[in-house]
Amino acid sequence: MLVRNPVTPPGYECLAGVVPIVHAPRMERSAANVRSILETGAGALSEVLVVEPPELEAMLISDEDWEQAPRENTYTYPPGLPYFTRSVHPPVLVLPTTLSPTFQPQTKATYPLVVWHELTHAFLLQKEVVRTPAWLGEFVSQASAAAIARRAGLPLAEHLSQIDRGPGFTIRALRGHVDAEEQMAFQNLLLLLGVAALEEFGEGFLERLVHAMWEETNTVDEERAEELLANALGSGGRTWLRSRPEF
Ligand SMILES: [Zn+2]
Repeated sequence: MLVRNPVTPPGYECLAGVVPIVHAPRMERSAANVRSILETGAGALSEVLVVEPPELEAMLISDEDWEQAPRENTYTYPPGLPYFTRSVHPPVLVLPTTLSPTFQPQTKATYPLVVWHELTHAFLLQKEVVRTPAWLGEFVSQASAAAIARRAGLPLAEHLSQIDRGPGFTIRALRGHVDAEEQMAFQNLLLLLGVAALEEFGEGFLERLVHAMWEETNTVDEERAEELLANALGSGGRTWLRSRPEF
């Protein structure tokens, strides 16, 4: 029998699977779709990162129940934005039934990419990770989502063609308070960089990078973050990275 999180809103049902999904009433079809996305993602990530899937649940929450979703803070998060939380056990991927319009571009690839992004956070955080610049952890999620898409045969060309390639900053330059639009542009730059890295170096760098992050014992600064990524990419990694407009 599945033990549900104590925070499950009334009337919610559970769909069993590799990642059990607690979902809003009358959302069986969406839940089945999410299950398929999660199973594809968990299987691919286990192989790419060479690690077992973490203990995890997903919750598919409707907008009207959003404030009942588990989270770290007292304040409700903005609706429509998926997140991963370790505030309950097992940890939970909180997924909205409708994605916020701040996610751009909106294509057939958007929802799976967003789910795989959050799933990768869950994989990475199943072991202790020291503090790193935010771009490094987010890069792992975006590049992994792209790697899963490639394996699953999800065409990314149309999605990538709609991304603004020159938002006026690079992934390392974005600091301090950022609005939703800048956050999206930042994530899209990381996706472009991830896709380019997969094309240039293959997917093996993801395993090397994640395992190197688990082995770090001190706070990772900007210089060390670049070194970790360049080393994971392999021969010519640093030169290639510095040649990238997103970096
Ligand atoms: Zn993220």
